[in-house]
Amino acid sequence: MSFRRDFITKPIFSWAHGVLPSMSDTEREALEAGDVWWDADLFTGNPDWTKLLAYAPATLTEEEKAFLHGPVDELCAMLDDWKINWEWRDLPPEAWDFIKRHKFFGMIIPKEFGGLGFSPYAHSEVVRKLSSRSLAAAVTVMVPNSLGPGELLMRFGTKEQQDKWLPRLADGRDIPCFGLTSPEAGSDAASMIDTGIICKGTFEGREVLGLKLNWHKRYITLGPVATLLGLAFKAHDPDHLIGHAEDLGITVALIPTHLPGVQIGHRHLPAMQVFQNGPNWGRDVFIPMDYIIGGEARLGQGWKMLMTALAAGRGISLPSLSAAGAAFAARATGAYARIREQFGVSIGKFEGIEEPLARIAATAYLLDAARRLTCAALNAGQHPAVISGIMKLQATERMRIAIDDAMDIHAGKAVIDGPQNYLGSLYRSVPVGITVEGANILTRNLIVFGQGAIRAHPYLLSEMNALGETDRAKGLDAFDSAFWKHVGHSFATLFRAWGRSWTGGAFAPAPDAGDATGFYRQLSRYSSAFALCADMALLTLGGALKRKEMLSARFGDILSELYLLSAALKRWEEEGRQPADFAALEWCMASGFRTIENRLAEICANLPNRFVGVLLKFVVQPFGARVLGPSDKVVHQCAQLVLEPSAARERLTPDIAHVDDDRGLARLEKAFLLVTGSEEVAKKMRAARLHDWNEAVKRGVITQSEGERLAAAREAAAKVIEVDDFAPEALSPIYKKSADVHQFFQDLGEQRAAS
Ligand SMILES: Cc1cc2nc3c(=O)[nH]c(=O)nc-3n(C[C@H](O)[C@H](O)[C@H](O)COP(=O)(O)OP(=O)(O)OC[C@H]3O[C@@H](n4cnc5c(N)ncnc54)[C@H](O)[C@@H]3O)c2cc1C
Repeated sequence: MSFRRDFITKPIFSWAHGVLPSMSDTEREALEAGDVWWDADLFTGNPDWTKLLAYAPATLTEEEKAFLHGPVDELCAMLDDWKINWEWRDLPPEAWDFIKRHKFFGMIIPKEFGGLGFSPYAHSEVVRKLSSRSLAAAVTVMVPNSLGPGELLMRFGTKEQQDKWLPRLADGRDIPCFGLTSPEAGSDAASMIDTGIICKGTFEGREVLGLKLNWHKRYITLGPVATLLGLAFKAHDPDHLIGHAEDLGITVALIPTHLPGVQIGHRHLPAMQVFQNGPNWGRDVFIPMDYIIGGEARLGQGWKMLMTALAAGRGISLPSLSAAGAAFAARATGAYARIREQFGVSIGKFEGIEEPLARIAATAYLLDAARRLTCAALNAGQHPAVISGIMKLQATERMRIAIDDAMDIHAGKAVIDGPQNYLGSLYRSVPVGITVEGANILTRNLIVFGQGAIRAHPYLLSEMNALGETDRAKGLDAFDSAFWKHVGHSFATLFRAWGRSWTGGAFAPAPDAGDATGFYRQLSRYSSAFALCADMALLTLGGALKRKEMLSARFGDILSELYLLSAALKRWEEEGRQPADFAALEWCMASGFRTIENRLAEICANLPNRFVGVLLKFVVQPFGARVLGPSDKVVHQCAQLVLEPSAARERLTPDIAHVDDDRGLARLEKAFLLVTGSEEVAKKMRAARLHDWNEAVKRGVITQSEGERLAAAREAAAKVIEVDDFAPEALSPIYKKSADVHQFFQDLGEQRAAS
């Protein structure tokens, strides 16, 4: 008998049954998938920075480095993104062959099964490099190495299944795809109506117990060329052939696409990105039980398996592609802004251009920092589910902003499509990244905080588990223990948040990090404010918070900022506190702090319980949201990072595919180096008010060799500024009869008049 438990906790226990979020099985399985990591520290309101700084950075083995500088570079050299997208509408056959031969599809498959056995970081680096050359190639390589048959077999497959399929997937004898999405079930994938009925059937001449499958899937990447389809469906046992239950739940199985009844559809064309993608169907396709991944024992466990696999995969593929996109945008746009002149000066010198350029550069810094930190966690064997959701959402969203900025700065040069446009394809690919692996609106409004609040909160999951306990007495005991710890934590957080907010974070904990020390203090301050507000929202809204998506999204934004900014600080530390990079770090911090302050203000203003809303404002934001974002000085310094050839520029945009082919980025890079290398000569010419370099040589303003250098730079810049045009008949078959569009319309007019 305990007084506290029986007289205080018990009524709260009964009340909490009503207010804490109720969960469906699929929600519970999604929540329980993966681990918590640095996100849990951020949620305590008092992150331990020494722990963050002590995490070993992600590194590559010699073998992984050799692969990046060997087969990956070779593959990049084979890829002509314009031809792939607009002429061939596919990767060239030699690229497909090369990808299979060099085991690009088996990067994550262990060596014992014939794969490359690469770490998550190596996988990420490969995707990053390929993305900077061809999105279609990057997606083609990415998919078999993320959520799909390979990953699922490695984690959940039986020994026999692993021995049979993994070597075939590793060397490309089988091409996998994964079918989850169907026309009626997109974001709510668990509502699929695809079925597998347990029955007896004949397979390879023998009568066996198995499943008769019917499905319709769409949007399936690699679907049109896949030989092995990982399929999600709902299993039913109406005749009770294996037990009492009829509805067994979501199950995943391997379907060789040559089986009778499998229909592989035509191709979708996703935003003119020509990676293979399309629908497929199955009509009464029979598979034996051992085609279920993990065998009969895994019937009904598909959702949990998928969510577990997603917890890691979502942190690699799209974040790597997005980090590459932002780095590409930074490198290319800085160079273009330097060589493109209007009103007699480089456009990069205009403040109006500096502002978006600084945003691109800082985004590249931040995204790569977050990618590396997440890969470090994955390399260490973590599966941080909340962080991988944050990464998928934030990386693709920020890539979108960086690419939009890059397009605006390039203006007509990037709008006009053709082989000389190195940005158009990236621009078109943005909505694909936003949509796949959990569309971003859903991820922002429902997943990041919805999952984060429960998983990463120090006590909430234990309380919910106690409430879900079927043995009520046992549940009450567990709840009593977790609840009072939670209360103690909440009071500590209240006083911490109050103290740190009212002193502007001046005394908040921080490691000695040189110029960056103050940033740690601010993050400690915001983390405690976040933890307090989250607790109060959960307390006053309970299960209703799930439906308050706008509030949930704001909490998710703060948690995301805390994670990304931690990553930026870690990067600055790991790279040896480079003074030149401080502008990028400062930009990220100022912009992130502004978002955090605005979201806190919005939460206080919109919390339905007005008393708590006003109280929270008094505690965490007595003077309102006050951070304005990066100063003009920081913006100017940050933009300079990509306007000059420098070590800082190389650190910001490392290892972006360079192929010496006089196209795209290579042509731009050459012009950039020539223009910046002849800047002094151009200055002398401007001072003498001369444009013709021959004349300047004659007058002794510059030397002959300086003049030639200037001429080469001008010629290279002019080549970059060029855009493409096409013969009318090359663009449309209706002009077939005439090479001249004027002639075509004249003919048409004459025909009309005659008839
Ligand atoms: C190019 C491409 C490749 C793909 N590859 C694969 C693949 O290989 N395998 C596979 O199985 N699937 C694949 N998909 C499917 C992809 O995962 C889905 O498109 C995605 O899950 C969204 O589903 P939907 O497009 O039907 O959008 P919908 O579910 O119709 O959503 C429409 C909008 O509503 C929002 N929304 C939905 N629910 C909520 C909510 N509760 N709160 C707030 N907003 C909400 C979404 O965020 C979205 O903005 C691919 C899709 C594309 C476009």
